Amino acid sequence: MNGPTPPGADRTHSRPNPRHADCARRWVPSPFIAGAAALHAGAAAALIAQPATWPWAVGSVAASHLALTAAGLWPRSALLGPNWTRLPAASAASVTSVPGADRRLALTIDDGPDPEITPRVLDLLDEYGAHATFFCIGERARQHPKWIEAIVARGHAVENHSQRHRHTFSVSGPGALRREIEAAQRTLTDISGTRPRFFRAPAGLRNPFLEPVLCALGLQLASWTRRGFDTRERDPQIVTRRLLTGLAPRDILLLHDANSARDALGQPVVLAVLPQVLRAAAEAHYHWITLRAALDAAPVTPVGHGGNAAPFGKIRP
Ligand SMILES: [Zn+2]
Repeated sequence: MNGPTPPGADRTHSRPNPRHADCARRWVPSPFIAGAAALHAGAAAALIAQPATWPWAVGSVAASHLALTAAGLWPRSALLGPNWTRLPAASAASVTSVPGADRRLALTIDDGPDPEITPRVLDLLDEYGAHATFFCIGERARQHPKWIEAIVARGHAVENHSQRHRHTFSVSGPGALRREIEAAQRTLTDISGTRPRFFRAPAGLRNPFLEPVLCALGLQLASWTRRGFDTRERDPQIVTRRLLTGLAPRDILLLHDANSARDALGQPVVLAVLPQVLRAAAEAHYHWITLRAALDAAPVTPVGHGGNAAPFGKIRP
């Protein structure tokens, strides 16, 4: 399809291998993970040296597992590894060369494509000249490839939201996580012609095995700054208020173009919310940027080996 190349799209590798070792980055355990590992080693050493301490050893290991689980159930946590909860600050060069670089927002739209809702979302985005990031499910992309092509052709970005969006994702082991993410990576790359660079976990839930897999696949985890719970909330005004109250530069917003709740008239809530959000942002002189465009505009910090350099883990609200 002809159309504008999405910001940050890498058209020079139209069919890259989704294993893409060239994009992998080195996994460095977060301080939280390193601490949990040290605690396990200490408990094992204590058991060997003084078996009578076993209640303490078992108790501390159990407590650390609880803490790791809790961190995975907190979508905006960076305890298990780097996690975009806001856009990184733009590099000095980007701020001076891109008008409005300090008034950037990101709109992320999950769970599609959907043949009913995605086209209408795309029309609304066109109306306001907004660029969005679509976290797509591999199986849905395979069912509706033309809407993946349309997303890219109309200047937006397609990113990885797993192949099947399984509710068991966050309790999967490293092999299952990798198969699920790699399958979506392959599907979305095949259809869009562009390798996804970001991953969002189903429901934002994950476990300590995820970050090493993302590193191997050259993906960056992204969550959000604010969400409207538009898959559950049927009142568009409540969803809109959740997204706009306290809106600030570099916020990442979350909506859904599939699995949307329906309002009192039976319409998908997202279609009533989106025009209000886009209008309010335009009036406040914000502009919408894709996550990958923000990644490209961020100051370069060498991370691991490969080209996926970004200020991972250094982002603060
Ligand atoms: Zn989802």
